[in-house]
Formats: sequence, C-alpha cells, structure tokens
Amino acid sequence: MANVIFIAPPAAGKGVQSELLQTNYKMLHVSTGDLLRQEVATETELGGQIKLLMEQGLLVSDEIVISLLTKKLKQSDLSQGYILDGFPRTIEQAQRLDQLTKEIKAEIDYVFFLSVDKDIALKRALGRVTCSNCGTIYNEYFDTFVTPGVCNKCNSILVKRNDDNEEIFSRRFDEYLTKSKPLIDYYIDKGIFHEIDSSKDIMNAFNQIKNIIDKDITHD
Ligand code: AMP
Repeated sequence: MANVIFIAPPAAGKGVQSELLQTNYKMLHVSTGDLLRQEVATETELGGQIKLLMEQGLLVSDEIVISLLTKKLKQSDLSQGYILDGFPRTIEQAQRLDQLTKEIKAEIDYVFFLSVDKDIALKRALGRVTCSNCGTIYNEYFDTFVTPGVCNKCNSILVKRNDDNEEIFSRRFDEYLTKSKPLIDYYIDKGIFHEIDSSKDIMNAFNQIKNIIDKDITHD
C-alpha cells in the first residue's frame, strides 16, 4: 500500500504513470480538478463560483478544494493506497495535506518528480494526435503508422488538438518548474522525494517508480 503524489511538468507523462499505478497496485486516483468539475456539474451556487475561476485558469480557494478533498478521502476505501492528482499546488496546500493525511492515518509515502528534457516534452505535446473516430492517442514523432495521418486501428483521420503551440508550451513548462520548486524543496526536506527520469519510454519511468515502491513493500 502506498500513497503517492506526482510533481510533473506538462507532457512529462503524469497521466499514463497514474494509470499504470492504478492498474498495477489498485490505487485510488483522486484528482482535485475532477472533484471540482463534479461540483460544477451539480449546478449549485458553489459550483457556479468554481466554474468562473476554472474557466479563467485561476486557482480555486484552498477552503473549497480542501473541503472537497477531505470529504473524498474520508469517504473512500484507501486500503490499497491513493494517487493525488493536482494537489498540492502550493506550500500552504502541502501543509494542510499533512494535517489531513495525519488525521485520517493515510500519510503521503512518495512524491515522484517526473523529470523530462524540455525538448522531449515539447515533441510529446506537439506531436500528439487523436483518432477522430475511436479516440486512440498517438504521437507523430514516436509512433509508426500504416498510413500517415490515419488511425492504425480503425482507419479514421487523426486530428491535432491545437491548444499547444511551441511558445505557449515553452512558457507553461518554465512556469511549472519555477512554481513547483518550493514544493520540491518541501518534500526533499521531508525525505519522501524521488526524481524519476521520464525522458525515455513509459515503461522505463514506470519501472523506476515500481522499484522504489516494491523495495519498501518487500521490507514491510
Ligand atoms: P487540473 O484538472 O488539475 O488541471 O485542474 C483544473 C482546474 O481546477 C485548475 O486550473 C484550477 O482552477 C482548479 N484546481 C485543481 N486543483 C486545484 C488545487 N489544488 N488548488 C486550487 N485549484 C485547483
């Protein structure tokens, strides 16, 4: 059983590593973005306030996020561990998380920082294409195609999601690293920080994570 946080710049592979942890260890995936989107869907007054902030890409107040997170963690079966996605984003949130996880006896065991070279992350982000029919995601730079521009599975056209251009991606990437620096230092001090080289393929990064978790499990 392990409780995990990822710190990962855009296109470092957080989504896919979370899925692998879920599949392999049956961990619960808790995303504060999803919790907030669920609240928006209820169309309550609170949901309306959250929607306005999210639409502008602003952070929702700590009070709201923490109350939703507390409710979710307290209601859920955490016996197989959990992955926290999108939280904490600030030192204040990290401190509140410490209090909460202590209270529910489910403290964070591992903070995995997925490090990736910016040019590789850029290729991953800009090369991303999705099948217009079956939704399969490919990468123009890394995958091979039977027919270029066409889905290998269902022969439909592949389309690009164009909210990422090089300049915007580069800015988001740099901003993320600057903003996450204090969090990284916070978790280094706590002795639960692990840097994972996520520049190679998916399974290479996952095996690094798995080695760390499994080493502790076998020593339990
Ligand atoms: P995400 O799905 O993690 O990209 O989050 C989507 C949006 O939800 C963010 O842009 C914020 O508006 C809000 N959000 C998610 N997590 C947090 C958090 N830990 N603190 C404040 N706002 C958050």
